[in-house]
Amino acid sequence: CGIVGVVGRNQATPIIFDALRRLEYRGYDSAGIATLENGHVERRRAAGKLDHLASVLARVPLPGVTGIGHTRWATHGAPTENNAHPHGTERVSVVHNGIIENFEDLRRELEAAGQTFSTDTDSETIAQMIDYHLRRGLSPREAAHETLKRLEGAYALAIIFAGHDGMVIGARHGAPLVVGFGENEMFLGSDSLALAPLTRRIAYLDDGDWTIVTPGGAEFFDMEGRPVTRPIRTTALIA
Ligand code: GLU
Repeated sequence: CGIVGVVGRNQATPIIFDALRRLEYRGYDSAGIATLENGHVERRRAAGKLDHLASVLARVPLPGVTGIGHTRWATHGAPTENNAHPHGTERVSVVHNGIIENFEDLRRELEAAGQTFSTDTDSETIAQMIDYHLRRGLSPREAAHETLKRLEGAYALAIIFAGHDGMVIGARHGAPLVVGFGENEMFLGSDSLALAPLTRRIAYLDDGDWTIVTPGGAEFFDMEGRPVTRPIRTTALIA
């Protein structure tokens, strides 16, 4: 339902948490955040309100300057902590808005190829497919692109990779995603309102675009993997 990503120089968790608050108006049933901590994927999740996630984070802090967050409105799988995003493995972590229509076929295929699923969601299929490609030696950008080619349905995604601090990959197909430009700090959001206090400089992904976001900027690609340019616009000041 709501997506936030951060990469840069400041602690990601408080930035992501505040941005998730600004997405609460959309409704949700659970929430979670994942960061890279010394190159390892770490995550905290909670069913119910963001206050529940806040108490989890207060008990077990989540450091790191690269991270992704999600407020979930369940479509596939009950609104439990275990089905809350981010989903993934020790290699990759994914947040997803939308519905993957062909997830049952993809899940069967991935299970046959040795991937072990741990949730009831359509979204975990995305993470497991990326993990499968990483295991067979593809780079994060190749693994993400190979996976996007197989997805049917609607998605906005933010993805982080173990061992790749300073990078978030985003993708958009039938669900909105924007890139926010800061000072040596970059953001992803499911809408520009989520990013409003962080930056007014926003680039909108076209449908089918994906992006590699690093502290210095963003590269944009189309479905075929060809580099494309997306203009940076300045959003109106919000009082
Ligand atoms: N289909 C996904 C799920 O049920 C994502 C739902 C959403 O957009 O929040 O987990």
